[in-house]
Amino acid sequence: MSTERRRARRQATKLWRTRVLRTERVTPRMARITVGGPELADFAGAGTDENVLLYLYETTEGLPDPLTLESARTAMSRNRPYMRSYTIRRHDPSANEIDFDFVLHGDHGPASAWASRAVPGDEVIFVGPSPAYTPDPSAPWHLLIGDETALPAIDAIIRALPGAVVKAFIEVEDAAEEQDLPGVTWVHRNGVPAGSAEPLIKALSAASFGEGQPAVWAAGERSAMQAVRDHLVSCGIERARVRPATYWRLGHAGS
Ligand SMILES: Cc1cc2nc3c(=O)[nH]c(=O)nc-3n(C[C@H](O)[C@H](O)[C@H](O)COP(=O)(O)OP(=O)(O)OC[C@H]3O[C@@H](n4cnc5c(N)ncnc54)[C@H](O)[C@@H]3O)c2cc1C
Repeated sequence: MSTERRRARRQATKLWRTRVLRTERVTPRMARITVGGPELADFAGAGTDENVLLYLYETTEGLPDPLTLESARTAMSRNRPYMRSYTIRRHDPSANEIDFDFVLHGDHGPASAWASRAVPGDEVIFVGPSPAYTPDPSAPWHLLIGDETALPAIDAIIRALPGAVVKAFIEVEDAAEEQDLPGVTWVHRNGVPAGSAEPLIKALSAASFGEGQPAVWAAGERSAMQAVRDHLVSCGIERARVRPATYWRLGHAGS
């Protein structure tokens, strides 16, 4: 395990209290929120799909001071935050900045609603980062699959695989949601509701794959990812290689 990853493991349960520095609408349905400040000076990245658990409080008034993971837990019976996972899109240790890309799927989700209204100065509290996915260096090729919530993770995994054979499929609403990620096959829903497996399965069925068993990383809506897994297994990929992560569940709050 690298020094960087060991440091990330050690700090995995630390609570970070930062502020929004700037916001940007990367695409119509994706908000990039840059957070940071001197508090992040000893934040060590974990790599690839590292993510954090955001604590979204209705109000931060009356929270314990100092706010640590332990004191926040103790206060949870009085002030329980919504907890949502988000991937670190970019970490710049020299500037003490972290970017998160939020899918704006509507105001019914507290995280999506918060991101659509976030302004510089807003407080951002999170715990992490999680340990990250380590791609198998001996795999003949790598298959990465997800919807737009997995875009930040897939981008990071691709960047960790220079020179490797990578096939990446990312489902987004339409062409306006594509980002500048070389080599990705963009799969457009074109009106099919998010959370359906249909667009990804159609794209995977039309793709030609290389020889040998790939290392597979997949994440998105739970049932959709289960259907994608079944499809890959029916195409000859060993079931044990396909363990998709649930990033969200249709009709259920939380991740
Ligand atoms: C490890 C991990 C990393 C993640 N990284 C990211 C990331 O970088 N960017 C990102 O945008 N998301 C990411 N997600 C997914 C995100 O945590 C969920 O989408 C989360 O449920 C959103 O919270 P919310 O409060 O907006 O909605 P919730 O309160 O959780 O849900 C409200 C309703 O919205 C629906 N819903 C939730 N998410 C979506 C969606 N994406 N599209 C359509 N409907 C939805 C639910 O089914 C529910 O009906 C990640 C999840 C995990 C587990």
